[in-house]
Amino acid sequence: MNVLCVAGARPNFVKIAPIVHALARREVTTTLVHTGQHYDQAMSQVFFDELGLRAPDHFLGAGSGTQAEQTSAVMTAFEAVVGEVEPDAVVVVGDVNSTVAAAMVAAKAGALVVHVEAGLRSRDWAMPEEINRVVTDRLSDLLLAPSADAVNNLAAEGYRTDQIHLVGNVMIDTLVANLESARSRRVASRLELADRYGVVTLHRPSNVDHPETLAGIVTALATISNDLPLVFPAHPRTVPLLDGLKEQCDPGQLRVIEPLGYLDFLGLVDGSTLVLTDSGGVQEETTVVGVPCLTLRESTERPITVTQGTNQVVGTDPEHIVEAATRALAIDHRPCQPDGWDGAAAARSVEVILAALSEPDRPRPTDLVPDFHATEDNRTSTPDLEADLHR
Ligand code: UDP
Repeated sequence: MNVLCVAGARPNFVKIAPIVHALARREVTTTLVHTGQHYDQAMSQVFFDELGLRAPDHFLGAGSGTQAEQTSAVMTAFEAVVGEVEPDAVVVVGDVNSTVAAAMVAAKAGALVVHVEAGLRSRDWAMPEEINRVVTDRLSDLLLAPSADAVNNLAAEGYRTDQIHLVGNVMIDTLVANLESARSRRVASRLELADRYGVVTLHRPSNVDHPETLAGIVTALATISNDLPLVFPAHPRTVPLLDGLKEQCDPGQLRVIEPLGYLDFLGLVDGSTLVLTDSGGVQEETTVVGVPCLTLRESTERPITVTQGTNQVVGTDPEHIVEAATRALAIDHRPCQPDGWDGAAAARSVEVILAALSEPDRPRPTDLVPDFHATEDNRTSTPDLEADLHR
């Protein structure tokens, strides 16, 4: 049996690591494929080093590009690997272009397709990740959901109950395994930060690719930083877009730095007073460590971080952001642990995958819609269809 695991971008490495480790503990042969969507030291290699992830068996070198360029580059290169490896199952995680590209190739190759972090929905069709989530789920045999809201979304979309499994949050497995070591690195003192400080991350196209939106966010950050020094480990795609905006801010109060490795970033967030972000994963991590999080977007695909955790979706209007920051700083926040965010989600995921692989005749994703060729009834069109035709 061979289970092929795919990862391509920063958040993927954090999610695939516990799955690869859990498969190894069950002595399952794995093939690890790195698509190369993120490829440099700060966005890729540091995660392999810090999370004990072995070197990938295949590196696809997809690189950056437009949505279609990146997706198609992964598909072309991944098809050759799948042809060579002939995996029994392909595990994809999250919502990046590599996720949907690999799922498409794997489904057509006949492998059991497993989506880890299935069912999250922002309901914002302008978000490329939302399209990736919906399409990946439709291509997948197994939908491993991180939270009850994700299960409800999948059920509402008509997926079979035998496909949907509430396994919990694999990203939090990585957090639980690394929090002590992250704390011991004392990143805040290495960065010479005061006792109270805030952390910023921004990389969603809806924020950083719209100059007016980004300028408004920076105005809000400049105001907040008068009271609370902010540190901003900037995503490579965000750095050039900040040029010309940084003058509004006192550089001692809003510090833009290189992206951090996983352990330093987790330590930084854990010791912070407030986080302002448009990241998906960071909304979850702040909930677990009990730091207030302001999500600078109009929606979230992770509503449980709002209903149970420390997150508030505040949009991008500068006044709203500043008001929300003032309110959040006045409240005492506690760490929160939604169901299944307990460090054992990957182990549960692997049990579901192994059970499915031991059942060769299990239904496939195509069995989601009623069988249309077998029965006498299906040979006649349905009354509803006819009503539409004759309207
Ligand atoms: N992260 C990191 N260094 C940073 C910023 C983020 O290690 O400088 C980690 C963060 O802890 C989380 C993951 O990267 O585990 C989130 O990735 P990102 O925000 O790029 O993607 P998203 O979650 O929005 O898909």
